[in-house]
Amino acid sequence: MKAAVVRALGEPLVIEERPDPEPGPGQVRIRVEASGLCHTDIHAAHGDWPVKPNPPFVPGHEGVGLVEKLGDGVTHLAVGQRVAVPWLGRACGRCEHCLSGWETLCEQQVNTGYGCDGGYAEKMLAWADFAQPVPEGVGPFDAAPLTCAGVTTYKALKVADVRPAQLVAISGVGGLGHLAVQYAKIAGATVAAIDVTDDKLELARELGADLVIDARSQDVGAELKKHGGAHAAIALAVNPAAFEAVGSGLRRGGKLVMVALPAHGTIQVPIFDTVLNGTSVIGSIVGTRQDLAEVFRLHAAGRTKVIYETRPLASVNESIDEVLRGEVKARLVFDLETGR
Ligand code: NAD
Ligand code: ZN
Ligand code: ZN
Repeated sequence: MKAAVVRALGEPLVIEERPDPEPGPGQVRIRVEASGLCHTDIHAAHGDWPVKPNPPFVPGHEGVGLVEKLGDGVTHLAVGQRVAVPWLGRACGRCEHCLSGWETLCEQQVNTGYGCDGGYAEKMLAWADFAQPVPEGVGPFDAAPLTCAGVTTYKALKVADVRPAQLVAISGVGGLGHLAVQYAKIAGATVAAIDVTDDKLELARELGADLVIDARSQDVGAELKKHGGAHAAIALAVNPAAFEAVGSGLRRGGKLVMVALPAHGTIQVPIFDTVLNGTSVIGSIVGTRQDLAEVFRLHAAGRTKVIYETRPLASVNESIDEVLRGEVKARLVFDLETGR
């Protein structure tokens, strides 16, 4: 099978021919149909974060495909069933986080495409308990972006406790943001979408954003304040200055939810304003299996639209460059079936 491999951090990925991986106890092997390119995979390949992955590794945590082989003890999945393999590759199931509905905070977790090989491959392994069944009627190319971009933004809006009649600012309308706009609308909010390209701002409008703010030419905080300020600001742009800009547009009691993970990212949080205005800064990391099940259910019900373009895995390095140049409409998905 073919896989795109990070052999050294910061180096281009290499397409390798590898033997099909053998599922261990509790695992399944999947024939990958579609695999999304999340900006996190770029951070992984570049070694952008304090906790680094160990090359060689195969990135990718939006892999979707058909179960091909069951490891010992796997009884709840069937060969031929479509599953998605998210960032949360496994968690311990026993710690206080796992037991309280916060398995995404488990300290024993293994992350797909970071701590174990991921979905940039024709075949991959997954822990069966964390491989999410994809419902009937949801195709692999829609399912792939939902597996990280979808669940992450769905969860961020839950963390922000978004209510109807609230103003929600979505900063960055890329892979994550184009779904965040839709979940905020489903929650009943008024949505302000912020980006730095005309195409993204237009896409945000098409997907239901009530107002759009061009961070190149407009003062994001001042624009949000004209509308009373945001109850929640979801920071999805890979740029610390964008966090500060959208955070400055919160209304009193508002919440800044940090989701994007720019390399060496820090922001200044003014103590006086934070105290007097009663604002919060919250980190939000992906979502649980239950969150992903809900994301798939919403999509199966026709409530969300996934915007993607396909690429062959062989173009992995060019695809990464496209994302970094901001040229992608929303999400790139590798087509492992036809190779187109
Ligand atoms: P992306 O590249 O598809 O989207 C980023 C968007 O931000 C683009 O549309 C870009 O035009 C826009 N942007 C750039 N500068 C901006 C600015 N100054 N103001 C407003 N918008 C701006 O990336 P993505 O795949 O959506 O991922 C976004 C970030 O989220 C990455 O850092 C990724 O690692 C992170 N991420 C976090 C989690 C989590 O669980 N916390 C999960 C997935 C991804
Ligand atoms: Zn991701
Ligand atoms: Zn745990």
